[in-house]
Amino acid sequence: IRDISGTKELEKLKKLDKMKMEFLSMISHELRTPLSAIKAYSETLIDSIEMMDTETLKEFMNTIYKESLHLEALLNDLLDFSKLELKSLKLQKEKIDINELLKEIIKSTEESAKSNNIKVIFEDNTKPIMGFIDKTRIRQVFLNLIQNAIKYFDSKKEKPEVNIKTTEDEKNIYVSIKDNGIGIDSKHHQKIFEKFYRVDTSLTYKVQGTGIGLSIVKDLIEMHGGSITIESSEGIGTEFKITIPKGVD
Ligand code: ADP
Repeated sequence: IRDISGTKELEKLKKLDKMKMEFLSMISHELRTPLSAIKAYSETLIDSIEMMDTETLKEFMNTIYKESLHLEALLNDLLDFSKLELKSLKLQKEKIDINELLKEIIKSTEESAKSNNIKVIFEDNTKPIMGFIDKTRIRQVFLNLIQNAIKYFDSKKEKPEVNIKTTEDEKNIYVSIKDNGIGIDSKHHQKIFEKFYRVDTSLTYKVQGTGIGLSIVKDLIEMHGGSITIESSEGIGTEFKITIPKGVD
């Protein structure tokens, strides 16, 4: 047994431990928010459903549904995170069209983009780009990146935009997800892929998150033999470039 007391290794372990504790308290808080909403709205329904008109009823049910989706997404993140930690996640690859998948994902984020007046542009996506990949996992990768591009938008920009572009060569699929949002200072660029890491500024403190999204994204891409890089400047915007090997079929 090696004595690691007082070493850098111990410092690192201590830091990781602290981050895990912070993460646990944050995730509990994150889970509590949608749960409280679901509870409050259903309580009101139970108490006064007879007095409600159809319009209000629909609005209530909609909120409950949306908050459940949010809760589900948080739990999925948490579950994946622990699976990746335990290295027990197995990919289930199939041949799919990445452009088709992206269109589907963009559609599912339409509403949140619209509510912030953000235009999501998918350039030149008519031709199929086929790859042998795990559809569920790669959906999660792009959903995460597109959701981030939307949620870290810059309210000062006249035309908030997210641009998505796909290209290919013989071996690889290349996807770029570019936004003109708040951007990230270069000192954070490597750290944002670490577990639990969140940029803490006056622009980000109101945005909900757990800091594990990008670490899951990176792990899932690397499990496919691919890579992800970032280009970003504070106040300008962020671009994530992803390379995924097409794989064998
Ligand atoms: P979170 O749950 O906090 O969004 P992520 O792991 O997805 O966690 O991202 C880590 C951090 O990177 C975020 O807290 C945010 O500060 C920064 N970030 C990620 N994507 C973007 C983006 N498109 N624009 C600006 N900042 C971003």
